[in-house]
Amino acid sequence: MLVLHYTGMATAAAALARLCDPEARVSAHYVVEENGVIWRLVPESRRAFHAGISCWEGEQDLNAVSIGIEIVNPGHDCGYRHFPEAQMAAVECLCQDLVARHPIPPHRIVGHSDIAPERKSDPGELFDWARLARAGVGIWPPALPPASGPTVDAARCLDDLASIGYCVVTGSLRPALVAFQRRFRQSCCDGRLDTPTAARLSEVRDAFARLRPRTGGARYTSKLNASCSSCT
Ligand SMILES: [Zn+2]
Repeated sequence: MLVLHYTGMATAAAALARLCDPEARVSAHYVVEENGVIWRLVPESRRAFHAGISCWEGEQDLNAVSIGIEIVNPGHDCGYRHFPEAQMAAVECLCQDLVARHPIPPHRIVGHSDIAPERKSDPGELFDWARLARAGVGIWPPALPPASGPTVDAARCLDDLASIGYCVVTGSLRPALVAFQRRFRQSCCDGRLDTPTAARLSEVRDAFARLRPRTGGARYTSKLNASCSSCT
């Protein structure tokens, strides 16, 4: 898996110091600064402590199976702001390189909030997932014009979220919906199951169903374009 985060700290220096402090018990494989500088803190073959208590597609202990990227941004509690172009270009490049070298299928590229909706909001609704998908990283189905008024139904919503990969039960529907919106319907992340959210859920569910491999993810790596001259 690939898990994208924001650092949620005032500066890159503060985030790097914390991620390198053994006492903090948090770490990530990579940190991407706002100016595009990429730091590797943990070898990809080693476990990093970035996901915490989390779940995706019914699987837990995601630190054991994932590479974590911390993207420098103050975060929602500290002055959340747009991710600059240099930073996004670096993130895109790094992710392309990772999915080319590891069997990471598109349906296992997630944000921290996707795998821990009740605890986490990162990388948040300003993160450009559509751009990454255009670069061959992750899934971003185009939003279709509404056909005949999708059904807004809580049971179906739970099914759709679970089909996508969210670990959600009836009592935790709202945080999961907020996480879904931060990722796939970024204009409004209020956690309400309104008609546009229901429509987007079906689009995303269908896109994940189309791209989810039947026999493992390795076969997807050959489809991804890893050409990237600026990753050095
Ligand atoms: Zn995080």
